[in-house]
Parts: sequence; C-alpha cells; structure tokens
Amino acid sequence: MKITSIEERTVPIVTSLRNARVDFSEITASVVAIATDQFREGRRVVGYAFNSFGRYACGGPLRERFIPRLLRAAPHELNDPDTGIVGPGRAVDVLLQREKAGAHAERSMAVGTLELALWDIVGKMRGLPLYRVLAERFAEPGADVPRTVRCYVGGGFYRGANDLALLCDEVSGHLDAGYTEVKIKAGGLALADDLRRIESVLALIGSGSRLALDASCAFQRDEALAFARAIAPYDLRWLEEPCDPADFETYRAVGEAYPGTVAGGENLFSREEADNFLRYGCFGGRVVLQPDPPLAYGIRELHRIVEVARAHGVGRQNIVPHGGNMMSLHATAGLGLGSAESYPGLFEPFGGFSREVQVSNGFATLPCAPGIGFEEQPALYAIFRELAQRQGA
Ligand code: MG
Repeated sequence: MKITSIEERTVPIVTSLRNARVDFSEITASVVAIATDQFREGRRVVGYAFNSFGRYACGGPLRERFIPRLLRAAPHELNDPDTGIVGPGRAVDVLLQREKAGAHAERSMAVGTLELALWDIVGKMRGLPLYRVLAERFAEPGADVPRTVRCYVGGGFYRGANDLALLCDEVSGHLDAGYTEVKIKAGGLALADDLRRIESVLALIGSGSRLALDASCAFQRDEALAFARAIAPYDLRWLEEPCDPADFETYRAVGEAYPGTVAGGENLFSREEADNFLRYGCFGGRVVLQPDPPLAYGIRELHRIVEVARAHGVGRQNIVPHGGNMMSLHATAGLGLGSAESYPGLFEPFGGFSREVQVSNGFATLPCAPGIGFEEQPALYAIFRELAQRQGA
C-alpha cells in the first residue's frame, strides 16, 4: 500500500475551562488525515488522528519536517513485509531519522499524532476496531481481549461564580450517566475552599476510593506537602501532578509524606522521561502512570513505557492513559491497562467517546467500527471529513 497524501489543520477548541494553573481560552488541536491508495467497502482508506488536548497544536513540525518525511518514504520502508500494510512503528523509525536525542516534546506530539493516524489505517485495512489490533500485538500473552474497560470521568474544573453548586450538578450528572469514579481539579483555591469541594463531592459519591484529585502541577514543594497532608484522611484514589512534572525531588517528598497514591505522566513525553519519573520520584509502588499516546510518540512508545513501568514494579492496572478520547480508550483496552479517562461534553468536539460506546456501572463498552472509529463521532468526523475531501477521498 502507498500513502498518497497527508493533510493537517489547526482547530481551536472553544472552552471556558480552567484548572489550578491555566485556562484553556487559547487551546488548539492538530488534526491529521493520511490518505492511502487502498479502498474498503468502496471508500478510500484514510487514517485520522488528533494530538489529544491540553497541549497546543503542533502544525509547525508536522508541516515542516514530519509530513514531508513520511511522504518521501518508499512503501518498502513503511510497510510491514508480512502484511503489506503500513507499520506504524516502522513509520516512526523513518520519522525520527536525523532527529537528535532528547527534547522529546519538541517532536513527540507531531510524531505521535501521525502514528495514531497510521494505526487507524491498520485497523481499517484489517476491518477491526483498533483495540483488537493492539491486543494482538501488545497484550499480555494469554490475556483475554476485553469486552469493556474500567472508565473514570475527568472534570470538576473551576467555574468561578457558583462553582460549588455547578461542581455538584456536574458530578451528579456523571453518576446518573453510569460513572462511578470521578476526578476533579484541585489546587486552584485556598485550601479550605478546595477541601469544601472535595467534601461536597464525597457526599455524592460516598467513598474516597472513587475520587481522584488533579492539582495540574500547581504547587511548589511546601504547598504540595501541606496539601497532601490535608487530604490524606480522605483516602482518595490518587493525587495527580502535585508539582512540576520534572520536579522529582518534590514528588519524592510528597510520596514520603502522603500515604495514598500519587499520579502523573500526562506531561512526560517518552519512555526515558517516564523512566526518570519512576526512578527518582520514588513512589514505592504507590503510583498511577498516565501517559497520553498521541502526545508521546504514539502507541509503540506507550508499549515501551508500559515495559519501563513494569521494570519499576508498576503493574498494567496502575497505568491509566490520559486523554478522555477514542485513542486512549483503544490504547487502554488493547494494551490491557487499568482504566480509561472520559471527558463527556468537555473540550468539544474532541473530548468524549463515539456513539458506539456506552458507560454503565463504571465500565465503558468497546466500539465495533474499524480503526479508531472517529466516523462515529459526528461533530469531530465533520472536521476530519473536510480534510479528507481536500485529498479527494
Ligand atoms: Mg491531569
């Protein structure tokens, strides 16, 4: 098979959301469409992906280096010799030619977004939903292919006026929709006000084990320690990103002062960065790792991060991909990881799952559409479709 054209575009995400550190008023995403010379059921096979969210679009490196590099590659460099279908890992090797080591964030999102779009192609060529392709390739030997995935709902952003009432309405809605585990933002208010938010949500969901907090890298060392000690009695599911992602010293101090689980990883962009985090953050097994596939070189790198984590004694159950989108859902199911994140109604049209996915009692069903299945997310697919039409697909 042959890649015939690649289109990309920067799309604004319109949202008034705010966490403890940033608002998302300028946030954007990169969308890509990779067209091939192959057809399935009368339609050209086109792979789609976007670069998750929380980080800005990566159109510069896509346009200037990575898309031209992929288009210049010969089919024999990209295609799996056994199947003749493009091999996403082989493609990443081509994309990383002439790239120096380190400074991963400068390229990992552009490469990861293209890699996910190539996996979409592989699923479509095989007529299988992506998680099944990934399970064949990456799951634990002998593991059953899952039918559902444990799924928690992210949200609880700060809303300004009427914040507490809006937070409780939001969480009640999630419980009504079938979620049992919730994550809310933390660290953006005075401690007493944040504790009031936590206690209000606990009154709704009943158990600290069902509530995670995301401090969004808000704290300096002393603030992080004070916050961790204050929330310790709630026995929560995890405390996420209490400090800068590279401040391993503070992570280690929090891990020593806090008896619960600490989470991080959405701002680590390679297996080397995940390795350092686990090696020097010193978690003693009480850690949840949250890599985001398109932000960090894609699915193959995610699998390498899983292997690194296992070498540090972190099991697959404690790896919970960030993202709240279809790419992370497939990755979680296909690699047999602990739980997926969900963002229903947030970061639209990029957040949330496709209409095939149903959530009940804290578990999400898995889709049947081949590939990632963005075709079953109508508002998002309209953006991809416009790209594909430029390609004559
Ligand atoms: Mg987070």
